[in-house]
Amino acid sequence: MSFKDIKGQDRPIEILKNCIKSSKLTGAYLFLGEEGIGKYLVAKTLAKAVNCLSSQDDSYDTCSSCLKIERNQHPDIHFIEPEDSEAIKIEYIRDLKKDINLRPYEAKQKVFIINDAHRLTAEAANALLKTLEEPPAHSLIILISSKAALLFKTIISRCKIIRFYPLDRAALTDILKKDYSLDNNLAHFLAYFFEGRIGNILRFKDTDILRDKNRVIDEFTIFKKPGIESLSVQSKDTIRSYLNILASWFRDIYFIKSGMPHSQLINLDRKDELLRVMNRYSWLELDESLNSISDSLMALEQNINVKLLLSNLRIELWRE
Ligand SMILES: [Zn+2]
Repeated sequence: MSFKDIKGQDRPIEILKNCIKSSKLTGAYLFLGEEGIGKYLVAKTLAKAVNCLSSQDDSYDTCSSCLKIERNQHPDIHFIEPEDSEAIKIEYIRDLKKDINLRPYEAKQKVFIINDAHRLTAEAANALLKTLEEPPAHSLIILISSKAALLFKTIISRCKIIRFYPLDRAALTDILKKDYSLDNNLAHFLAYFFEGRIGNILRFKDTDILRDKNRVIDEFTIFKKPGIESLSVQSKDTIRSYLNILASWFRDIYFIKSGMPHSQLINLDRKDELLRVMNRYSWLELDESLNSISDSLMALEQNINVKLLLSNLRIELWRE
């Protein structure tokens, strides 16, 4: 992965590359912006670029240093990212502080990437402050967060902030078609459903997401025979994605009924059908459907019977 492969983040990349060129890339940076728009990819590529043996300000995954970083096997590049939604406890920061003061084994610059920095505990954040203020030479600390409101102000004020914005969806559709050879239906759905979040899009671009999302829509809104068996035993993440797909469908009906341009539809691949079914639903029924889906999304976070939740939802959503 080199910087030119990361789509839609030209501005932050340009700023960082200029810092590399003028040897000003030291200390602590905070990458802020929505989930899944490329912050982590840029951070990892930056760690490669400052240590690359064959390029001045980028990485092409060809030298031994870049390859080690790509495989997370470089002794001087550290990724701090506890699993699931676990907090980043003080132990992680103690290790970082011990390590950051030692000379690099082989890198030009040691890099510490703290992902989801809003998960730092108060104790861990306090322990980190002094290091952020006076980071040792030959070190670079990158904090990443999608939840600025949850970050400690003391942390924010000690970092140089780099902002990331989601890519425009129409532009992203074109990029997906041109650079990744996706067909129009898939490119459009990915760009609009994931709202420009390139991380998610790249994760799903080689899957059967179009077929799967259409199956979910059919199961809940079209098939006359009750039969959600194929959808029932799934992880919470999968059920959440089903509910988001259903929300996109009813949002589309709402949009098409209100005369919005068709290019704004998420399920553009089913435009003709949306035009056909829009009159089956009154405005009130559309509101109710969207509310049922959002109630189900909330209920999913509690300990509920998922099968029952889905079959109730199916009854609420289905129309003759
Ligand atoms: Zn390299």
